[in-house]
Amino acid sequence: MSTAKSHQLHVFFLPMMAPGHTIPMIDIARQFARNGAKATIISTPLNASHFSQTIERDRENGLEISITLIEFPCQEAGLPEGCENLSSTTTLEMSLTFYRAMDLLQQPVEKLLRENHPDAIVAGLFFWWADDVARNLGVPRLQFNGTGFFPMCIYNALRAHKPYENVDSEYEEFVVPGLPDEVKLTRRKLPEETKDEDKSPFAETVRKILLSQSKSLGIIMNSFYELEPAYARHYREVIGRKAWHVGPVSLFNKSNEGKAHRGMENSSGDDNCLSWLNSKKPNSVVYVCFGSMAIFSAAQLLEIAKGLESSGQEFIWVVREKTKDERSVDWLPDGFESRIQGRGLIINGWAPQVLILEHEAVGGFITHCGWNSVLEGVAAGVPMVTWPLSAEQFFNEKLVTEILKMGTPVGAQEWTKRTDDHREPIKGDDIEKAVVKLMVGEEGERMRIRARELGDMAKRAVEKGGSSDADLKSLMEEIRSYHL
Ligand code: UDP
Repeated sequence: MSTAKSHQLHVFFLPMMAPGHTIPMIDIARQFARNGAKATIISTPLNASHFSQTIERDRENGLEISITLIEFPCQEAGLPEGCENLSSTTTLEMSLTFYRAMDLLQQPVEKLLRENHPDAIVAGLFFWWADDVARNLGVPRLQFNGTGFFPMCIYNALRAHKPYENVDSEYEEFVVPGLPDEVKLTRRKLPEETKDEDKSPFAETVRKILLSQSKSLGIIMNSFYELEPAYARHYREVIGRKAWHVGPVSLFNKSNEGKAHRGMENSSGDDNCLSWLNSKKPNSVVYVCFGSMAIFSAAQLLEIAKGLESSGQEFIWVVREKTKDERSVDWLPDGFESRIQGRGLIINGWAPQVLILEHEAVGGFITHCGWNSVLEGVAAGVPMVTWPLSAEQFFNEKLVTEILKMGTPVGAQEWTKRTDDHREPIKGDDIEKAVVKLMVGEEGERMRIRARELGDMAKRAVEKGGSSDADLKSLMEEIRSYHL
C-alpha cells in the first residue's frame, strides 16, 4: 500500500460552464498539477476548445493534466445547439433552462468518477449534486464558486439576520450585522434571490446549493489572506466553514502566452493591443471591461462613449458583440471613432484582460466588480472605478471602495438580473467624473499607491512559502489525509 507521502493525488475538476468560473478553475487545476498531482478537467466540447491548447502545452511540459469530455445536453434540455456556456444565454428562460441542463450532467459525471477512482472532486458551486456523488464514491468534494471571503460573509450575514426586512423602502440604507466592518447596503443593491427568495426563479437552486454546502469538505477561494484577513477569519471561525485561499490564481500564469490564452481566443490580437499600449505613457490608459456576462442597452453604451470621450483620458473599451442592442446600431455618438482615433481603442469581443491590466500604461480599470476582475485588478496593482451590475458585485464594490480603498464608485444603485437590464443608464457625466477622479489628482494617486501595495502582497502570496502557496499545499495534504 502506498504511504500518504508517496501517493500521487488524482483530482477531478468540474468547472461551471461560465467564463468567470471556468477560467479560475483551470488555473487551479494546472497549479495542482504543477504541485505534483494528476489533474483531470471534465468539460464539454465547445468549452474545452477554449483551453485545450493550454492543457496540451502543459502535457508537453511534463504535467499530468488532461481533459475528459462529456456532451452538454443541449437538445435534451431544450437549448439551441452549441449553447454550452451560460454566457451564451440571452434571456431569463434560457438561463433557467441552462441550470436545468447542468443538473442533467449528474449521471455522466458520476459514471466518469466511478471509472476513474479519483481522490477528490472540485466542483463548481452550482453542481449541488456533486456532494452526493462524491459521498457515494467515498471521496471528498470541494466547492469552488469563483468569489471571495468578503462577499461570502455578506451573503451569510444577510441570510442569518435578514436586515433588509427592517427598512421602509428600497432606498433606505441598513447595516449588514455581525461583520468585522460597518458595511451598509440598500435593498436595491441586493440580488433578488437574497431579498425576495420566494419570488426568485432561482430560489430552488439556491436552496439546493445551501444544503450541499454543509456536506462538502470546504471551499476553495480565489483570494489571498492579506487581501481580506478579517473576512478570511470570520468565514472560518465565526461561520465555521473550511476554506483554502489559493489566489490570485491569474498570477499562476507567468508567461505572456499563458496570460493571453487564459479564457477565450482574443478578438483584437494580443500584438495589436500591446503595441497600442506600448505607445502610451505609464498610468495614462483606463481599461474598461464588464466581464463575460454583462448585457448593456444601446442607451448605456452611448453614455459610456460620451463619458470616456469627455474625460479626456486614453482608454481601451471592451464591447462584447452580444452586449450591443441588435435593434439599434446607434450605440456610438456621431463621429466618435474618428474623434478618439489614437486616444481610444475599442475591442469588439474578447480582450486579453490580464495582459492589459499588467501593462504599465494602464492606470485605471472601470469594472463591473466580477470577483475575477477585482482580483486581477488587485494583482496588477490597478485602482478601479466600480460599476456593479448583478450577482454579488455590489458587495465586491464595498470591498474595493470602502475596505481596500483602491476604487471609486461610478454611482450604480440598482441590481438587476443580467438578462433583464431595465435600469436607468448611468450618465456620461457621472462616468467622466469618476474617471477623472481616478486618473487625475491626489485622491486617484492615493488609490493607485494602495493598489500597488496590494498588488505586491498578492504576488508574495502566490510565491513559494506565501500564504496562498501554503494554503494550496495544505489543501493537498488535507485531501491525502482524508484517505488515511
Ligand atoms: N475576461 C477576459 N477578457 C474579456 C472579458 C473577460 O479575459 O474580454 C476574463 C476576465 O479576465 C475574468 C473573467 O473573464 O477572468 C470574467 O470574470 P469576472 O468574475 O470578472 O466576471 P463575470 O464574467 O463572471 O461577470
